[in-house]
Order: sequence, then structure tokens, then C-alpha cells
Amino acid sequence: MRNGEVSYWWRALGGFPPRRPSLPGPTEADVCIVGGGYTGLWTAYYLAGRLPGLRIVVLEAAFAGYGASGRNGGWVTAELPGSRARYARAAGGPAGVAALEAELRSTVDEVARVCAAESIDCDYVKGGRLSVATTPSQLARLRAGLAALRERGAGDDVYQFLTRDETRRRVNVAGALGGLYAPASARVQPAALAAGIAAAAERRGVRIYEATPVSAIEPAGPALASTGKPGAVARTKFGDVRARSVLRCTEGYTAALPGQRRALLPMNSHMLVTEPLDAAAWQEIGWAGGETLADEAHAYMYAQRTADGRIALGGRGVPYRFASATDHFGVTDASTVTALTQVLRRLFPAAAGTPVAHAWCGVLGVPRDWCASVTYHPASGLGWAGGYTGHGVAAANLAGRTLADLVAGERSALTTLPWVGHRSRAWEPEPARWAGVHGLYALYRLADRLESPAQGETAADSRVRLGEALGRAGDVISGIPH
Ligand SMILES: Cc1cc2nc3c(=O)[nH]c(=O)nc-3n(C[C@H](O)[C@H](O)[C@H](O)COP(=O)(O)OP(=O)(O)OC[C@H]3O[C@@H](n4cnc5c(N)ncnc54)[C@H](O)[C@@H]3O)c2cc1C
Repeated sequence: MRNGEVSYWWRALGGFPPRRPSLPGPTEADVCIVGGGYTGLWTAYYLAGRLPGLRIVVLEAAFAGYGASGRNGGWVTAELPGSRARYARAAGGPAGVAALEAELRSTVDEVARVCAAESIDCDYVKGGRLSVATTPSQLARLRAGLAALRERGAGDDVYQFLTRDETRRRVNVAGALGGLYAPASARVQPAALAAGIAAAAERRGVRIYEATPVSAIEPAGPALASTGKPGAVARTKFGDVRARSVLRCTEGYTAALPGQRRALLPMNSHMLVTEPLDAAAWQEIGWAGGETLADEAHAYMYAQRTADGRIALGGRGVPYRFASATDHFGVTDASTVTALTQVLRRLFPAAAGTPVAHAWCGVLGVPRDWCASVTYHPASGLGWAGGYTGHGVAAANLAGRTLADLVAGERSALTTLPWVGHRSRAWEPEPARWAGVHGLYALYRLADRLESPAQGETAADSRVRLGEALGRAGDVISGIPH
């Protein structure tokens, strides 16, 4: 089994992409984007389309798609990255949250539109999202969640309840008791998408410099030669990039930048992919619709059937490294691989004989209140977007379009969405941060174990009830939205 090498997704494309040059020296630009993941690349792509001739520079520490954008589960999902209640506190109120949710749903189609327009071959299939309950407690949670969605006006076009048999007809998950199906979700090959956006941005004149880590982002540098006005600065060992706007698009890696240590917590997510399953296994499992799949556990799993006939499955594993440390090229730990393999075998007995081919991990950015933000200050020229809490594939496209509008100085339907300018408080200092996150996931795992009724037990047994109570307590303590 391979471990690390960034991700299976890059290996499937033939290995790491040819390296682009580093920044050749001190430079002046109109817009400097720090970070070559989906957020930075989409922002560059849309800005370059909106304002041809704008000098846009992307500075990337490793290579475009090295971060979460080249490692994720490939869910292009319209799920809200954060809490409805908190977003509703913004000026737009509940209507603003509904607008953000509607924009996220149409973003799933926008990604498909650009892939078609730019000939990005990333195995895009809009098969919807299937969330499966495998215990009575999960089923009760799923039903309660659906009831709350219905109260807010979400109809069958947005969420559908599936019976046990309807669920299993889509994907034959062992022990499935029912499911929730949301049509607005697609699966992609994540690294192919990242590589495709990078190339499309370059065709629009964007310059991407790789192996160029930015050591600091600062406002109010010396006057720009082009405008005579002060610009912001991105500092690198090759020289400074001075620009009217400097945009921080570093999501899970943000804590390493000066002044950002407690802004976004780098949450680990771990994945594995099997060897291709044989025809008999696929006959047993089904999954012909390309649905993105999850369960309703507190420490949930997410999965996709890949275009090359494998199962790619992810979960939390070791959730966080002390002092916001990040992995090295995606190498993950043995205990997480074992735990994810057990989940795979439990949910898909038909794949029990299929070896795991590759495992890896990555970091995603989590703000203290679990709500993402797209922020731009015209006066300083500084902006940023991220904190999508694991729902960043579609959200980064919407954030990129929004940042492009903000930088262009255009007021649009996007620039009034409730995540624009959203501020979250800072994370606790260490060791409280480490202890809190590890304690939370220990609680969630215990809750999941207790919620699984043993032989002869019913959902009403006190052990199961205790599991549900612990799960709810975890949600309250963490502020994780449901
Ligand atoms: C294993 C995993 C599975 C996931 N699954 C899903 C999923 O299925 N669906 C979903 O919606 N979301 C998922 N996510 C989250 C999603 O992938 C991210 O939210 C999204 O890709 C974030 O994109 P980004 O561009 O903001 O950040 P990234 O893709 O992390 O890009 C940031 C880039 O900035 C660079 N960088 C960092 N610091 C510096 C610096 N100082 N100077 C220069 N460059 C720097 C990094 O090298 C990196 O390339 C997953 C994440 C992980 C890790």
C-alpha cells in the first residue's frame, strides 16, 4: 500500500505535475494571490476573465493542487459550510442564508459549466449526495434533520428521504436503514480539477509561481510604480510581490503565517482508495449513479466510487496535530489506515477481499465558529477566503467568484451573501486547542460505539441513549452545526 505521495489522485494522473518556475525576483502586480488551491485558482480564473490584462500572480509554496484541493474526497457538494443560525445574524437574515444555499446549489452546475468550457476532464458526474443511516440513532438524527429542513421550506427537489430499500437500490451499504438524498452534488477527480483550473487560469494570462512560499503578508508597502498608491506586500525569499490587492487563499495552512496562528484550525482528514473492484463486487454494491456517499455517524465517513472502479473513502482519524502542524506530503498514520479499512469492510463486505491501494491525508481549515468567510478590505487591499470546514470544493468556486467581484469593486448578488466579511473568534491557545479537539473526537467515537446496538439491544436501551446524549453534548461543546 502506498502512503502519502500527496494523494492517489495525483498518482492516477501520472505523478506530480511538471513544476512551474519559482518567482524570478521582486515583482509588481495588480493582484497577488497566495495559495494555489481551488480558492486561489478560481479567484485568479474569474478575475482574469472579468478584467483581461490585469496582472495576476499566484504564489504557491509547493505546486498548484498540493493542498486539500489535490487530496479531497471529490464531493462537489452544495452543503453549507457553517451554521445557518450564525450566518442568519448577518444583515441579510434568514433570506441571506437561503440565498447562500441557493448559490451553492448552482455552483455545482457552474463547476460543470467551466469544466466543459475549458475542456477540464475531471470525471465530473452529478449523481447527488446520499447520506446513509446505519443505526437507529443515525436514522432518528437523519429524520430530525430532514424535518428541520422541511420547516425551512426545503422541498423534495432539494432533499428526499429514502427508505431502506430505496437507499440500498442506490448503494448497497451493509446495515443501511434509510437515507437522505440531495440531488445537488457531483463527484470529481480532485487533482484533475485543480490541474485543469490552473491551466485555464494560465490561458487567461495568470502567472503561477511554484515552490514559492510566502513568509508574510503585510499591508501598506511602498507606493506602486503603476498607480503611485501604496500597495500590499507578499514577502518571499525570492523577493517581494507588491500589489494593489494581496489575497490569502491558504485555508488549512493559514496558521503558519505570521499573525494567523489561531485563525483557522488545520483539521486533518484522511483517505484511502482500494484497488479496482471486480464486476461481481460492483454487481453486489450497485452505486451506478456516481452518488457521493456519507454516513450519519458523529465521526462520519465520506466516499465516492471513482471513475476507474475503486472506492475512495475518507474520515477524521487523528483529527489534529499539536500547534497546528501539518503533514508531510500527505503521509498518514497506521492506526488511521486500520480504522478506515475497518469502516470500508464493514460498510462494503463485497469489497472485503479488495486490497487498499493508497492512503493519504490533508488539512482543511476550520474557524472557531465553523463558518467560512470571504473578506476583502479595499483600503488595505488585503483579502482572504476559506474556513469551509470540509465542504470546500464547491464553496471555493463561489468564494473565488465572490472575491473576484469584491476586488473588481463590483456590488453583485454574491458580495452581499452572509459569509462576506464574516468574522470568527480566535481558537484557544495550546495545549487547550489540542486537548479540546482530541477530547471532542474521542467523545464522538465513543458516542458512535454506544449508538450501535449490540445483539438483542434496542434503540431504547440506556447505552444507546447515552451515546446519543454524548453526541449532542459534543455538538454543543464544539459548536459544530447540524
Ligand atoms: C482529505 C480531505 C478530503 C476532503 N474532502 C472534501 C470533499 O469531498 N468535498 C468538499 O467540499 N471538501 C472536501 N475537503 C475540503 C476541501 O478540499 C478544501 O476545503 C478546499 O480544497 C480548500 O481549497 P483552498 O484552495 O482554500 O486550500 P488548499 O487546497 O489547501 O490550498 C492552499 C494552498 O496554499 C498553499 N500555501 C499554504 N501556505 C502558503 C504560503 N505561505 N505561501 C504560498 N502558498 C501557500 C498550499 O501549498 C496549498 O496548495 C477535503 C479536505 C481534505 C484534506
